[in-house]
Amino acid sequence: MYCSKCGNVLEKKFLEKEGMINFCSSCNEYVFDRTNVAVSMIILNPDETKMLFIKQYGKDKFILVAGYTNPGESLEHTVYREMGEEIGRYPKSIEFNMSKYFAPSNTLISNFICKLTSMDIFPNEEIDYYEWIPLEEANEKIAQARLAREFVKEFFNKRKKLN
Ligand SMILES: [Zn+2]
Repeated sequence: MYCSKCGNVLEKKFLEKEGMINFCSSCNEYVFDRTNVAVSMIILNPDETKMLFIKQYGKDKFILVAGYTNPGESLEHTVYREMGEEIGRYPKSIEFNMSKYFAPSNTLISNFICKLTSMDIFPNEEIDYYEWIPLEEANEKIAQARLAREFVKEFFNKRKKLN
């Protein structure tokens, strides 16, 4: 591993209460492991009978609208910005659903349930295809997306507990 500031090879150095931590001797600083932060959204139509799934990057599987958090942003801000950029709509409400760590991209993803005031979508060029999926078909349609299917499953678990 290398120092992201100066490019020096990192060494291991003992830090009290932390253990052996990467250390840059030229910056004279400990370098902690970090994780990427992202959000994904279960977007509901106004009567909450459908959710919005998309296809992206030339792949033929449904996924959720999602994106990385920028430095300085809150998770809620990321949700607003990504929805504005990708589907041209802003949520009328945002509710936390669950978070999961995704090892392949070293990313902590927080999922939110977002409600819209209409079903009008204005997708940008990043979105190949979108569809409003009836809730009864949601689990099946999202089954190929490793993380999104867990978020959708949890959405239904939460709903069951309410009823
Ligand atoms: Zn350095």
